[in-house]
Amino acid sequence: MPIIKKDVLVIGAGPGGSIAAAYLQKQNYDVLVVEKQKFPRFVIGESLLPRCMEHLQELELISEIEKAGFQKKKGVVFTWKERTFEFLFAEQFTPGFTWTWQVQRAKFDKILIDTVQNRGVAVNFEHEVVAVDFSDKIKKTKVKDENGNYYTVESKFVIDASGYGRVLPKLLDLNKASSFETRTAVFSHIKNHWKKNDAFDSNKIVIDTIDDDKTWMWLIPFSDGTTSVGVVGNNDSIKKCAIDPKSNLKPYLEQVYTFKRLFSKVEFIKEPSSISGFSIGVKKMYGNGFVLCGNSTEFLDPVFSSGVTFAIESGMKAAKLVAKELQGETVDWEKDYTIYMQKGIDVFRTYVRTWYDGTLHTIFYADEVRQEVKDRISSVLAGYVWDEKNSFVKKHARTLENLAKVIQMY
Ligand SMILES: Cc1cc2nc3c(=O)[nH]c(=O)nc-3n(C[C@H](O)[C@H](O)[C@H](O)COP(=O)(O)OP(=O)(O)OC[C@H]3O[C@@H](n4cnc5c(N)ncnc54)[C@H](O)[C@@H]3O)c2cc1C
Repeated sequence: MPIIKKDVLVIGAGPGGSIAAAYLQKQNYDVLVVEKQKFPRFVIGESLLPRCMEHLQELELISEIEKAGFQKKKGVVFTWKERTFEFLFAEQFTPGFTWTWQVQRAKFDKILIDTVQNRGVAVNFEHEVVAVDFSDKIKKTKVKDENGNYYTVESKFVIDASGYGRVLPKLLDLNKASSFETRTAVFSHIKNHWKKNDAFDSNKIVIDTIDDDKTWMWLIPFSDGTTSVGVVGNNDSIKKCAIDPKSNLKPYLEQVYTFKRLFSKVEFIKEPSSISGFSIGVKKMYGNGFVLCGNSTEFLDPVFSSGVTFAIESGMKAAKLVAKELQGETVDWEKDYTIYMQKGIDVFRTYVRTWYDGTLHTIFYADEVRQEVKDRISSVLAGYVWDEKNSFVKKHARTLENLAKVIQMY
């Protein structure tokens, strides 16, 4: 079997893998990215968070992405029938980016990996990692190419950014069940048939509570006159919708209050599809000579659009630590990687939990919420979940629960 020798092998060319490869290329490491699919390819996860812009800026990727003319994202509107609660990233506690983008991922992911490739990183599309042998210092990874031929990549380090493919969690038995219930999402892209042209500010996404605390809808407008729409939950009607999304999503959307208020009709421009049981965890985020990033580690829930930002954050963090180790420095992977990533994940875990148990609904749909409180929550929703000066980060669960109790008392 042919052998390719590299410093680092990156599995997967999604945002996590592209960012890791971009950083390591900048440090002059010889990197190979192996990607199972042909790009552009569809993947869900279209609303970004301002926090990820810092990493895109550090890697000088913003100007490349800007050329695509993606829709700017400046905030989030939560709606529940007539009630609305709006967060603007310009109004937040933590200093940082006040905007980001709403992106068609096929295009966004291709821009990232093409830029990385143009900078000199080798990328093998339609090549799939099928097995690993990590018993030696040099890691051996078996890859199948588009013609069904196999080769081995020998590398000093492997970064698993295979997203929902979860290559190393599967091959090394690292998968762990999530503490969240199994939920289902049914989604598509629609043409904008607005009821009123001024009814909607495309610089914001909408998260709409459909009929109770448990089911919700996203609307993510793009810059080309289309919108991503998806419904999430675990009730019977969403499960039924997921059995045959092509036939069932349209009638489902036609009876959702906010959808009816905004759109005059449903016209899909992409066949509706569904995904179930997307929340997943991992027993270990790293091991001798390998590290997991992005969705290959833990994925919580789509409600706060944190997935791509965490893929970018962890891809960058992993790459920095890999570079350090390859330079001969000692890396404390537990402290500098797992505990760091877990801190941010835990903040979002609380926000996801309190979204589904109704605590956040009490806060978001209260008659009045102080601006200072909104600013602090806004920073969390912008992805600044490592800023411990923010009480809504440092004592996330207690602060939210106490606030909801106070609101309920009045
Ligand atoms: C319903 C839903 C809605 C979501 N909405 C949002 C949102 O609005 N905003 C947001 O930020 N996140 C959202 N997410 C999460 C988001 O989809 C992911 O967190 C994000 O795509 C993870 O990026 P990644 O780089 O880790 O992996 P991916 O983007 O999934 O990329 C991984 C790549 O690895 C490749 N791969 C897989 N197996 C192999 C293999 N064996 N060999 C080689 N390559 C392989 C795949 O082909 C893929 O291209 C949503 C998730 C769901 C389920």
